[in-house]
Amino acid sequence: MSEGLAVKDFLKERRRMVEEQLKARGIGDERVLEAMLAVPRHMFVEEALRSQAYNDFPLPIGEGQTISQPYSVALMTEALQLQGEETVLEIGTGSGYQSAVLSRLAKQVLTVERFPRLARKARMVFDACAYTNIMMRVGDGSVGWEEKAPFDAIMVTAGAPVVIESLKQQLVPGGRLVMPVGSFRQQVLKRIVREGAARFHEENLGACHFVPLVGHYGWRETPARSC
Ligand code: SAH
Repeated sequence: MSEGLAVKDFLKERRRMVEEQLKARGIGDERVLEAMLAVPRHMFVEEALRSQAYNDFPLPIGEGQTISQPYSVALMTEALQLQGEETVLEIGTGSGYQSAVLSRLAKQVLTVERFPRLARKARMVFDACAYTNIMMRVGDGSVGWEEKAPFDAIMVTAGAPVVIESLKQQLVPGGRLVMPVGSFRQQVLKRIVREGAARFHEENLGACHFVPLVGHYGWRETPARSC
């Protein structure tokens, strides 16, 4: 039977991505590997880019933004140490791919995107793929989502100049915040664990490169397009 692009499910490509890009580089959390084997990443990129969806790099998604490289998604997801019962806040919905991965690993995902057009597209994919435990809002996620706080885990998928204090305050005790922090073009991935009401433990997980977080606690404006 011939297999058109519309029905191709890219399972072979996904298996290879998990083996070569994730397992081979040290991603060991079985639940994360399973989620990334299951989520159809090609659905989150434009049709013309689908054949590249499982390659080892970010891809453009419009508005000068990118869907992160699969390895970054896996690394950040693993760092949140999800067991399945958590409420997770993601800042920077973008294509919606990271939200979909999180939705398979937690009870509920709340996600915030500043570009309405990207949010609309992501919503269409969530609906098409029946990701029913994702709640999205359009706005500045750099301030978090106060009305829905506290969260068991928070992930920021855009680079901020500093660790954002108000996000730390929106964690439950024991909660994890993962975010890239640094300059416009180069950041360090940080994990902050809330150990007590006012006690936080911070560690570096390595160098990374994300589009900038633009907003109240982020950068003031978008730079000339990077990747
Ligand atoms: N998690 C996304 C990555 C997208 S890139 C994915 O899987 O595709 C980062 C996204 O963060 C971009 O879509 C950008 O528009 C968004 N962003 C940047 N600053 C933001 C802010 N202050 N609030 C909400 N979204 C923001």
